[in-house]
Amino acid sequence: MTNYQPLFGRGALNVEYAQYFTGDSYLQFLASQEAVSVNSVTFKPKARNDWHIHHDGFQILLVTDGEGWYQAEGHLPQKLKKGDVVSIDAGIKHWHGATKDSWFTHVAIGKGTTVWLESVNDELYNQL
Ligand code: MN
Repeated sequence: MTNYQPLFGRGALNVEYAQYFTGDSYLQFLASQEAVSVNSVTFKPKARNDWHIHHDGFQILLVTDGEGWYQAEGHLPQKLKKGDVVSIDAGIKHWHGATKDSWFTHVAIGKGTTVWLESVNDELYNQL
């Protein structure tokens, strides 16, 4: 738990985006070039981000540690583990986050702007 050490570090408590998350997350900036940013995001067990859409770009998730979920609207949730890759096109409504019992870390490679929507409610999340 507290000795959880993701590949690129855990980073600092993610206060900047906390309003768009349920539960605590941590953010480690890794790199940026032109319009592309690369960050490692770590979720505490049960933590997840709100439903959201990336516009005018894309997001690619590279899972480095732990176990989590990715769900696109209208699709079944997809369980993620170390080594999994998720490529998300612009305009796709989705969320990502940890499982109930595991920390979860992905590197997020992104371009564009994000529009944040409603939270992933406990009713949905607890069914996973
Ligand atoms: Mn996303």
